[in-house]
Amino acid sequence: MIERTFVMIKPDGVKRALIGEVIRRFENSGLKLIGMKMLHVDKDFAKKHYTEDITVRRGEAVRNMLLDYVVEGPVVAMVWEGVVAIEVVRKIVGGTEPRTAVPGTIRGDYTHVSYAYADAKKLPVKNIIHASGDAKDAAHEVALWFSAKELFSYTNVHDVHLY
Ligand code: ADP
Ligand code: MG
Repeated sequence: MIERTFVMIKPDGVKRALIGEVIRRFENSGLKLIGMKMLHVDKDFAKKHYTEDITVRRGEAVRNMLLDYVVEGPVVAMVWEGVVAIEVVRKIVGGTEPRTAVPGTIRGDYTHVSYAYADAKKLPVKNIIHASGDAKDAAHEVALWFSAKELFSYTNVHDVHLY
């Protein structure tokens, strides 16, 4: 049941100086940070992250906007570990559309725009953060962004309550 999941603070989250705020929320939940780095990815790399799966679910136009969005500045990439971490991280992140993302979640507290606004303006929905959607995506994304040497195994204060 201990899972690993991939999280990325997108360029808008970095530029809005929300890195610490985002990390604090995951740390407070008891999840364990096992890898982290700042990097500025290029289009080729971005295509491996936002795969054709996005085209199928959201359409070609959204994928193209997303590819431009994620390369517009540095991002912070992280791997978080914990019990049902994939689902718990998604809960803390909140829904995709800021308009309806629930208060108390990262997206609900720090963003507000609607799909309709973004689509009318031909803008990506800038929602601060990415988190793996399911186990298959988590495995793909952790392996894409991190080498085995960049992921760490250690004991932290939360472990005493887990084992
Ligand atoms: P999530 O990030 O919640 O897993 P998706 O995987 O469905 O959501 O979409 C990836 C990202 O694409 C979203 O986080 C958002 O930034 C962007 N996006 C999704 N739908 C739209 C849309 N209709 N218009 C613009 N951007 C969108
Ligand atoms: Mg997704």
